Amino acid sequence: MMQPDKHPHVRGFGMASARSRARLIARLEQLGIRDERVLEAMNRVPRHMFVDEAMTSRAYDDTALPIGYGQTISQPYIVAQMTSLLLADGVPDHVLEIGTGSGYQAAVLAELVATVYTVERIKPLYDQARRRFAELGYRNIRPREARDDVLGLPSYGPFDVILVTAGAEALPTSLYEQMAEQGRMIVPVGASGGGQRLVVVRRQGQSFQREDLDPVSFVPLIEGHD
Ligand code: SAH
Repeated sequence: MMQPDKHPHVRGFGMASARSRARLIARLEQLGIRDERVLEAMNRVPRHMFVDEAMTSRAYDDTALPIGYGQTISQPYIVAQMTSLLLADGVPDHVLEIGTGSGYQAAVLAELVATVYTVERIKPLYDQARRRFAELGYRNIRPREARDDVLGLPSYGPFDVILVTAGAEALPTSLYEQMAEQGRMIVPVGASGGGQRLVVVRRQGQSFQREDLDPVSFVPLIEGHD
């Protein structure tokens, strides 16, 4: 868990980015994000460091932005919503994110929980995110390159929460065994053309309860060989 002064080299970006970030946080509050822990964490993470330089001026707009390879950095409102869900039943310890992408969501999580594992299948995105975590001093993020034959990170589980930041066509039940006994999974489910919804699965022992929430729109989760 980190404080703003842990990002000394970011200070150089000055007041402009701090002001834009504060405006974004105010916007998220207007949109109904109430969890102060989430708002504070997002106020600490320099989102402009997670997008290409050409996109810097839009880094604090509440929109998804392209990050190359047909992928996107998620919309801040969605990051806030997923992070609020992740904290809703108490602060988890051991979290897995599937779909590192830019690394932004992982950085927000790292402000709030003890250890964040994050997996990415596109090597250049994985390399770039790793570099960003190192530059920003996030020592509690464990980035891993995804294998295409198995979803998640079975050898590092089970996880208190699994956060999937890519859209699965159907509920990825293969991840159930990587959930802790009282664990949760937060995952966008449905066809990527439309009709995706955020789904929360709660595990209690061998019982798995599914709850469908708001409509969302994520790039596809790739399962198996392609
Ligand atoms: N959380 C990211 C947004 C991710 S976009 C952020 O904050 O920027 C979704 C990402 O999931 C893409 O980078 C995509 O390559 C990755 N992805 C898709 N299927 C995957 C899989 N099976 N394992 C790991 N990563 C996957």
